[in-house]
Amino acid sequence: MGLKNFICKDVRNQNEPKRGIVTLRIIYIVMMVAFLLDLVIAGWGAVKYSPYKIGLIFAAIIILFAITYNSSTKVSLTLFLMFTFIFSLSLIPCFGWSAGMQNYFITMLMMCYFAVHAGMAFKIVLTLLVLCVRIVTIFIYSGTLPETEISEVSGKMIQSVNISAVFLLTVIISYIYSHRENIEESKLMKYNDSLAREANTDRLTGLYNRRYASDYLDSVKKAGTLGAISICIADIDFFKKVNDTYGHDAGDLVLKSMAEILRNECGENCLVSRWGGEEFLLIFSGVNGDDAFTMLDTLRKKIKNHVFTFGEQEISVTMTFGLTEYDFSGNIDKTIKEADEKLYRGKTGGRDRVVY
Ligand code: GH3
Ligand code: MG
Ligand code: MG
Repeated sequence: MGLKNFICKDVRNQNEPKRGIVTLRIIYIVMMVAFLLDLVIAGWGAVKYSPYKIGLIFAAIIILFAITYNSSTKVSLTLFLMFTFIFSLSLIPCFGWSAGMQNYFITMLMMCYFAVHAGMAFKIVLTLLVLCVRIVTIFIYSGTLPETEISEVSGKMIQSVNISAVFLLTVIISYIYSHRENIEESKLMKYNDSLAREANTDRLTGLYNRRYASDYLDSVKKAGTLGAISICIADIDFFKKVNDTYGHDAGDLVLKSMAEILRNECGENCLVSRWGGEEFLLIFSGVNGDDAFTMLDTLRKKIKNHVFTFGEQEISVTMTFGLTEYDFSGNIDKTIKEADEKLYRGKTGGRDRVVY
């Protein structure tokens, strides 16, 4: 925890985000550890051959790390770019081309791109500059052997250490700079989902609303060949009386419980929506009129026998259904109108029935 706080300590300037500075501190630590491992693997000979260079690099890493606690991000970043440039170029002859010191240029490139707060033109120029220097190293140093004797195995181990460090830094920098955006993006997606849900559902019953059902019917019309579609409008009988007798809250409870019954009983091929006050539109996909009729008549009986309880009160209602099979003529409004006319016939004919 102490180390984390130490690394994550805020940048000195109050008006700057600390992300850049913290990233630089982590980079220095990783570079320091990798460099130490390189030296341990290379052995005492390497240190003896260029003690000043190695000493200076060590001192530079420590000083630059310390500077991150006392400077602006811009200054620290500029120093980092200069240091990495010198670090890589001066260590290629020390450990040889195959050690992969030149790969640290990738870290420079990433920090240029992510952390430099400047215009796009400036970033591109800086990126091209880093790329050019990196290419120049190929022409100058490609194939360079280490200054001191390093065994083949040690050479490969040094290469592994450096490439691991560069991989690790790539992951760390990418994580730090994409983490917040990812969180914000997923938050935004969740918010959009909830808005879409809100726009498509009825608050009281949790069913799809008329708008969603209409869109769904439009998509059914366009899809064309999904098999039989049966459409039913269901309306609670004498619902006004329920409100008048037991109160509006009791009426709301009946609507909510009715929605639950419809959802549970109509099967997963049925889209249940609240079409209006106490009217529901049921769309059965892949179900012909005859099968829908059987299903609805069972449902009708279930509703008739169901007792809705509101506090101490027990409420019973019946429901009338108007059912039509869509003929894929393209005129779905006509089908709904037919279902509505059948519902009306059911009402005038005595209610509590399915008219098909
Ligand atoms: P019918 O058998 O002919 O359908 O008679 P009805 O009383 O059910 O029909 P009517 O159209 O006369 O009345 C419907 C009632 O539904 C009136 C309205 O107050 C009530 N209603 C509509 N939406 C809601 C709601 O969200 N909550 C409550 N509690 N009542 C509602
Ligand atoms: Mg009614
Ligand atoms: Mg009605």
